[in-house]
Amino acid sequence: MKALVLAEVARFEVREVDEPVPGPGEVRIAVRQSGICGSELGGFTGSDGLRHPGLVFGHELVGVVDRYGPGAEPAPRLTVGAPVTANPLRSCGRCPVCASGRPNVCPHRQLLGAHLPGSNAEFVVVPADALHPLDGFARPERAVLAEPAACAVRAVAQAGPAPGATALVLGAGPIGLLLIEVLRLRGVGAVWFTEPHAGRGEAARACGAVELDSDPERLAARIGELTGGYGVDVVFDAVGSTVTRQSATRVVRSGGTVCLVGLHTHETPLPVRDLIRREVTLTTSFAYTPDDFAAAVELLRQEELVFPAGLVHARLEQGQHWYELLLAGDPAGKVVLEPPR
Ligand SMILES: [Zn+2]
Ligand SMILES: [Zn+2]
Repeated sequence: MKALVLAEVARFEVREVDEPVPGPGEVRIAVRQSGICGSELGGFTGSDGLRHPGLVFGHELVGVVDRYGPGAEPAPRLTVGAPVTANPLRSCGRCPVCASGRPNVCPHRQLLGAHLPGSNAEFVVVPADALHPLDGFARPERAVLAEPAACAVRAVAQAGPAPGATALVLGAGPIGLLLIEVLRLRGVGAVWFTEPHAGRGEAARACGAVELDSDPERLAARIGELTGGYGVDVVFDAVGSTVTRQSATRVVRSGGTVCLVGLHTHETPLPVRDLIRREVTLTTSFAYTPDDFAAAVELLRQEELVFPAGLVHARLEQGQHWYELLLAGDPAGKVVLEPPR
């Protein structure tokens, strides 16, 4: 089969590789769409420590069931040929972390396209219980958003904004945009956002969010004006740079919550003494549990998530081109690679 392989740092190559064979309890999916995730850009440039040359990337996928491995029983809506998406995160299910209800941070977890061969290929193998049927989808290809939407579902749950709360989202890439949509579905009041790349804000504005200047000084001043000097109830950092982390902790109100989602930078100095004196809750959100993933699939099935940035369809061999554009901050929506069929 054809697969987009990282030949060396910053260079993909379409190669002919062996088709994966589903083992016991597994299923092979014929991939139709495979989204490019912001978290993969660091793998391409060799800076994420997780993805290495020789790997096939891709963990946001839509396809059809191709064949089951031994011992996997197809459920009625998941027979061969059925359109599906799949939760790409495998956890061990046996450790204390999994037992505590947080399989998303299982230390033994494995992610497609990072620890396991990913979906930027004609076929990918997943456990049969990772499948989600896409019957009832008016536009099945939009289920390629299930994985980033699941990240947004979890982050909003982690921060737990009260109905009518004010919220600020730093970064309006796909995760920031989905965060804005989930926040609005959860009934928050005002949603503000920042996005330094010109052209990316339009979709967020279409979701009813109001854009603020991303410059830290001007942002703090504007938030002061908007909130009577108190600050924002919940702040989400969908970027994870030193600048956005420090902005988030600066503009949150006393007793408010900062939810750190973006993974851009390893270490960031934060004003901890000030955060203690203001009883700010610092929380984090990583990936999603199976329940978060299922909730995201349902929101997409009901078309409650609009994602006005849209999908940009590209051929597998255009992966190199799109990675370069995304790294340059191209204001594209979700780029989905499509293998030959
Ligand atoms: Zn992703
Ligand atoms: Zn575990």
